[in-house]
Amino acid sequence: MSSDRTTSNVIGGVAGTGTGPEQSVIDPSTGEEIWRYRADEPAQVDAAVTAAAAAYAEWSRATPAERSGVLVALAAHLEGMAEELAQAETAQTGKPIRLSREFDVPGSIDNVAFFAGAARRLDGHASGEYSADHTSTIRRQPIGVVGSIAPWNYPLQMAMWKVLPAVAAGNTIVLKAAENTPLTTLMLAEACAAVGMPAGVLNLVNGPGPLTGEALVTHPDIAMTSFTGSTAVGRHIAALAAGNGTRLHLELGGKAPFVVFDDADLPAAIRGAVAASLINTGQDCTAATRAYVHRSVLDDVVDGVADLMGRVRLGAPTDAATDQGPLVSFRQRDKVASMVDRAVDAGAKAVTGGSAPGGDLARGAYYEPTLLVGAAQDSEIVQAETFGPVLAVLPFDSDEEAIRLANDVPFGLAASAWTRDVYRAQTASREIDAGTVWINDHIPIISEMPHGGIKASGYGKDMSSYSFDDYTQVKHVMADITGVAA
Ligand code: NAD
Repeated sequence: MSSDRTTSNVIGGVAGTGTGPEQSVIDPSTGEEIWRYRADEPAQVDAAVTAAAAAYAEWSRATPAERSGVLVALAAHLEGMAEELAQAETAQTGKPIRLSREFDVPGSIDNVAFFAGAARRLDGHASGEYSADHTSTIRRQPIGVVGSIAPWNYPLQMAMWKVLPAVAAGNTIVLKAAENTPLTTLMLAEACAAVGMPAGVLNLVNGPGPLTGEALVTHPDIAMTSFTGSTAVGRHIAALAAGNGTRLHLELGGKAPFVVFDDADLPAAIRGAVAASLINTGQDCTAATRAYVHRSVLDDVVDGVADLMGRVRLGAPTDAATDQGPLVSFRQRDKVASMVDRAVDAGAKAVTGGSAPGGDLARGAYYEPTLLVGAAQDSEIVQAETFGPVLAVLPFDSDEEAIRLANDVPFGLAASAWTRDVYRAQTASREIDAGTVWINDHIPIISEMPHGGIKASGYGKDMSSYSFDDYTQVKHVMADITGVAA
């Protein structure tokens, strides 16, 4: 589908190619290569940062209306490319085309529309109250050149989350997509050029983390690094960025708890648990991975979830009837499979799933929806990020125990509590350590929502007007108003 594409980066508005080792983009539903490109090396990264730095003076002084106008045009342009984007996203990730069409692409376009508006609401404020002899102005200014690195699970949406608050606030950016999923990010960069975003405002480089990513993070002219990906790589990047004292925004891994109290609407909780654990084949940093269920309703929930998981239609991602496609790669599938195998060896039981399907699907990176019971709280499957279609269910006996278990992991990105009791809901939302707590739902994500974690899930916010706290700096301007020099 994209094999006729000949360029793999966009630097200063010019599409080009890298000079590094060849990279393959694989359709994980078949294992076939769909595109091949050469990675960008430090020379291309340097050219991209130079282009971003050159574009900064003009873009940072553009009026809010001018920046907003580019994003308004971009949203309209992307609407016209929606099906093309959905097809490319599905081809490179294996996600069902229904998900690409109904979630990834419209969610991305809505993000553009949101930031087109937010760009015009980025106010500082004035105050005369700090001193009788002075007036103060608080300015919100952009930071400079942002170096951003994105993961492969939602390539287009993650690129949007990085690019939009940065450029809406007047920064310029060099973005690196994940090396295995560069296609829709390239289409985005080309769309930006087509709608007249000035050359150099968004630059795109592609290639592996240790080669292309590290050249970006360690570049001395980067003012900020914004990273979404695994906790291990995030910590490595934080150490590298510390060398230059670069500002950081880290969106890292998750291990979301899904807490079902005994008064919950059980059919809704069961449907929610299946949807929230299998979304994007479980490759979602907010996916439900640990369900804590009150012992009195445990059997009902396990039976209900197993029944629904058993009815999930695995199939070709291009088929609109498919509920679950392959994982993004054979490597990721094998990682998930070995985590489940180790959980079962340690005493957990797979009520449903627990293996890769055979038949026609054996040629792709598929894994069955998997429900585990009997895993210990301190086991790997409960503590470590799985990033696959796997849900572990554990019992609890009291509200206090449920909250304690929910918080007993290194991560703190997202969580949900299922109850009809308003006091329980309020207590859970206050006590659970997570950047987002859903009540009687799990997964919805809207452009206005601040998204980001605590603990090993990182810090800073994507989407929403709160993201401007990361992508702007506050400057205090203090002026004497007495006319008498101090
Ligand atoms: P990853 O950490 O392996 O890679 C993410 C990105 O970092 C890729 O672009 C990769 O090329 C780059 N990278 C890898 N090593 C690097 C290095 N040494 N220097 C610079 N860049 C480097 O993560 P992944 O496997 O692509 O994505 C899955 C992870 O992303 C999961 O842990 C998931 O939870 C996390 N994630 C988090 C959020 C969030 O909002 N918190 C959203 C989506 C994904």
